[in-house]
Amino acid sequence: MVYSHTQISQYLRCPRSYRYRYLDGWREKDIRAAMIFGRCFENAVGAYFAAKDCTEFFFKEWQVYRDTPFRYGKGDSWDRLLHQGVHLLEKFVRDDRIRVRRSKENLQRKFSQTLVAGNEFVSYIDAIGELDGQRCVIDWKTTTSRYTESPEGLLSLDPQLTCYSWITGIADVALVVFVRKHLPEIQYLKTTISEGQRQSFGRLVETTIAQVEAGHFEPHSGIRFPQNGCVSCPHLGLCLNNQQLVDSNLIRRPGASDLDWLDDLVD
Ligand code: SF4
Repeated sequence: MVYSHTQISQYLRCPRSYRYRYLDGWREKDIRAAMIFGRCFENAVGAYFAAKDCTEFFFKEWQVYRDTPFRYGKGDSWDRLLHQGVHLLEKFVRDDRIRVRRSKENLQRKFSQTLVAGNEFVSYIDAIGELDGQRCVIDWKTTTSRYTESPEGLLSLDPQLTCYSWITGIADVALVVFVRKHLPEIQYLKTTISEGQRQSFGRLVETTIAQVEAGHFEPHSGIRFPQNGCVSCPHLGLCLNNQQLVDSNLIRRPGASDLDWLDDLVD
């Protein structure tokens, strides 16, 4: 089996939800506009490093979806996302804090690790580049709200960055957060992941996969206020036996796919 960070984090959030998605094949019916926007935007950032006009590139990519019936967030529309995307790209170019040399090789770069029992773990890293002259692993994020920066060091606990540091062996990691709001903002956040954290993450991957392969899929409902993960879980209808909720949120594709790790590309 090929595993990814998205699969491991879904299992850790709720093993039952993992089973619904990766073994039983339940998927969300609606496509979120923000997800496709994020993909188009990140492709445009890639175009910038390939010395292309990134705003024009973004417009062409996003225009394809002008009439697609996406699920838009509150107050969002195709036009609004277009303007936010263009403003953020212009600001990114003006800031000029990131370098990615040999962009073909260092954008969306695939890393893999062989695990015990012949399993494999795969990650696609957004970029290996430099932030303010310092070499690091870079992950782009598009979001509607700022990432919390305090207390100091909080970012070093980020599981996705820890995963990327583990799989690349690079200690320095950065998040470039494109915040879609009235006045667009870009956060350049960096941290260092220790060798101990990398080793610990490797053990977490192995123990999680052992649980999956042993067929342990108990629900972690997280029902207590305010961290009620069930409310935003697409599988809520299955757990509540509520057919109406199932029909409105999910479709079912038979079985798990060996290509499920590709979900990481849109994460
Ligand atoms: S609704 Fe809650 S318990 Fe059920 S799969 Fe989702 S997170 Fe898990």
